[in-house]
Amino acid sequence: MKKPYEIHVISHTHWDREWYLTFQQFRLKLVELVDGLLEILETNPEFIHFNFDGQTIVLEDYLEIKPQNKERLKQYIQAGKLAVGPWYILPDEFLVSAEATIRNLILGHRLAAEFGKVMKVGYIPDPFGHISQMPQILRGFGIDNIILWRGFGGEADQTSSEYYWDAPDGSRVLFVHLPNVGYSETLHFPNATKQAAVLITRLKEAYQQRATTPYLSIFTGSDHIKPQAELPQILKQVNAQLDDAVVMQSSLTEYIAKLRASVPDDLQVMRGEFRGGLKHTYLLTGVLSTRMYLKQENEKAQTLLEKWAEPFAAMVWMLGVKKPDFCQKPGFSTYPQEFLWQSWKYLLQNHPHDSICGCSLDAVHEQMMTRFAWSEEIAEELTQNSLNAIAAQIDTSDTPSTVQHLVVYNPLGWTRDEVAHATIDFLTPEQTSSVEFLPYIPKSPYTEEVKGFIIRDEQGREIPYQLIKKQICQKVLPSPDLTTFPILLQVVQFEILLHAQNIPPCGYAAYQVIPQKTLKTYSAGVQQLPYGMENEYLRVNIQPNGSLLITDKSTDKVYPDCHVFEDSGDVGDEYNYSYPLRDRIVSSIGCPANIELVEQGPLRITYKVSQRLTVPKCAEPDRQGRSQETVEIPISLCISLSVGAKRVDITTELENTARDHRLRVLFPSGIHSDYSHAEGQFDVVQRPIQLPDPNDYQIEKPSPTYPQQSFVDVNDGEVGLAVINKGLPEYEVKDDARRTIALTLLRGVDQISRGDLLTRPGGNAGWPCQTPGGQCLRKHTFYYALAPHRGTWQTGLVHREAHQHNVPCRVVQTDSHQGNLSRKMSFIEISPASLIISAIKKAETHDALIIRCYNASNEATTGEIRLYQPIKSAALTNLNEDILEAVTPNSEHTVAFQVRPWEVKTLSLEM
Ligand SMILES: [Zn+2]
Repeated sequence: MKKPYEIHVISHTHWDREWYLTFQQFRLKLVELVDGLLEILETNPEFIHFNFDGQTIVLEDYLEIKPQNKERLKQYIQAGKLAVGPWYILPDEFLVSAEATIRNLILGHRLAAEFGKVMKVGYIPDPFGHISQMPQILRGFGIDNIILWRGFGGEADQTSSEYYWDAPDGSRVLFVHLPNVGYSETLHFPNATKQAAVLITRLKEAYQQRATTPYLSIFTGSDHIKPQAELPQILKQVNAQLDDAVVMQSSLTEYIAKLRASVPDDLQVMRGEFRGGLKHTYLLTGVLSTRMYLKQENEKAQTLLEKWAEPFAAMVWMLGVKKPDFCQKPGFSTYPQEFLWQSWKYLLQNHPHDSICGCSLDAVHEQMMTRFAWSEEIAEELTQNSLNAIAAQIDTSDTPSTVQHLVVYNPLGWTRDEVAHATIDFLTPEQTSSVEFLPYIPKSPYTEEVKGFIIRDEQGREIPYQLIKKQICQKVLPSPDLTTFPILLQVVQFEILLHAQNIPPCGYAAYQVIPQKTLKTYSAGVQQLPYGMENEYLRVNIQPNGSLLITDKSTDKVYPDCHVFEDSGDVGDEYNYSYPLRDRIVSSIGCPANIELVEQGPLRITYKVSQRLTVPKCAEPDRQGRSQETVEIPISLCISLSVGAKRVDITTELENTARDHRLRVLFPSGIHSDYSHAEGQFDVVQRPIQLPDPNDYQIEKPSPTYPQQSFVDVNDGEVGLAVINKGLPEYEVKDDARRTIALTLLRGVDQISRGDLLTRPGGNAGWPCQTPGGQCLRKHTFYYALAPHRGTWQTGLVHREAHQHNVPCRVVQTDSHQGNLSRKMSFIEISPASLIISAIKKAETHDALIIRCYNASNEATTGEIRLYQPIKSAALTNLNEDILEAVTPNSEHTVAFQVRPWEVKTLSLEM
């Protein structure tokens, strides 16, 4: 008789690469585990399967120590006995960019394929919640399922173990929800058959309540737990004792296949992000602001790679396609794929959930900073190479050698105006070359020191600029071709702002800098007010306590009391913020401020506001309140308004001298709305401001703080206020009358985990290791901006304002020379405005340009991409760059394609 239930036992380990031990410490254990696993697979043919946690980085980590075992690993992976991938690492999904998650999967697929087989299961068991677009991202790799744990479950409509989960574009995956113990149901089975049978029967009875099919799973293994060699023999014996179930060692691939074939037609469908599940297990919401410096550095590294290094390397490569000698400098005509991947790898190694979340030992996070630096150093050098290579090809030969040129680059997909920051160097008259035979060493064309200049655009119109600083200095230029020592040049250096207008999308505009006898001054485009400033769109008044009163001149809406500091206690841990029972909240409202005008030019005005915030030194010893003893936190912020800007830019510097606290900055919106809108990963997520009743939650309390990428917005459809941030991923919109937006700057805690949190009554969420570095007692600089607007975030083009803030134009100087490029051009244009470019790169395995975009809108649309080079052929690909279907270009330079609402599209264009 056929037994009704089939129990798939999954032998696995969950490998946090670094956490309560460092990477090197854990790796010693990893090598021990893999050695043991190979031994089991070799000596026990009945041990048919082991799951390596959905990752591939473990292979690299192991083989770096024991490269001699590569073929042995390959043999078992190819045979399906050892499952690796689809991920490179198990990321936190909310704290990294969508593009980073795609690269993680590309790398995971590539490595697993090198070993023979990639597991096509969306196994992502531990991350702290799941982004709304994960089903679409997985489908982009041909994965039609997901297995997850946190962020979901425990509510009345969340009682099953199987669902469908739909992304905002409609992409659907089969979704398997792990039980409340997650993947740790049993570390090892008891060796005694009877006890093992009792355990399996108990789990079966619990899981059949949740199951929609006769197929159940039991995970054996957990965090850093090695496989149990006797497993096949134990299961064989238990099988004989079970009346209504067959128990078998199995793989996730097999288990998913069985489920897919037998789930009911009317299987429940879920939509949206998963940031709940608080009756099921921990979500750990405080990680959005733990060790904020990591989040800031991550944003910097991601932006450098995604917006500069990769797209501009691709543009240089595109120029070289038709004319191989186009970029003559060595290395410039080939695409630096290996270096780009190395930079991505260092970055991705910082994206595991215990790493980027900041919930590990101090040493772990110190080592992350080195990886961020390595990633950025590669990306920065590649960026400079590309920008210089393009500048060297612009034809500037119609000007005399005394004229210099500034090339303003715009990596974003729309035409923009910007007050751009630049430096221009003029050689001093004394500068002569002592090495006559090297042609690239410039000789000064100036007979006297350059005292000033005018700037003209490509049509000869004079462009206003503002001087920041002038100095005579020495510059060290590394040898361009490894034939000499570095070259020392003496220059007159001007640091300026220039008003660059109509900079083409994914392109540049070159400006002539013509030396004059004197510096020019221009009439003001931004007006100074007593303790304030005003341009055509905004008026900013700075109040005596340093807060801002902002008037949106396009809507006449006034925003008073903006930018007030709020300091409160935090007796939580690296996983969760937690308020002390007797909290004492300090505000800067009553705090006098010193207000100074520090920059007053025609293009930008900046005020510096200095304050000393007196706050409790630390928590009281019983952790129920904040200490009577106080310390001062010196804070200075620069508030800038530029000509033509629709946002107020703020740079805040402070030295954190207090412990056990959370510091936020508040912006009362005064707008009636029940929702916030925050940029996510290929999504802008609408979230209710009102929280559910905390009394209903006994494990972890619902948190009003949420993740964001570059902005959060509160609007009523008529007007709105957006707070833009650079690497500050935590916000709250308070459920108060003024709908105050709170932006977290930092929080300080000193243990990975504690068992006494009011916000997490369920107890410890990890190991209670000391982490004094989590207090973040250091100097910090934060970048953010305020953008009041008309309409919604969409009609108000808030995403454009946010991306312009986070990705300012870069300016490169070049001289007069011949070239093939005009003074102003766009390499890639995309329309309509709702399509946002996410990646521009060379294809991994073929000679084509890859452009990825997504539709940030609820409307389907026809997208069009215009390329500088003629398009020979075009195709749509999946996210893994496999060709899906050909697209016929609709003209020599353009290709059109259909895009669903919130759909991600990847195009491969051959030139
Ligand atoms: Zn984990």
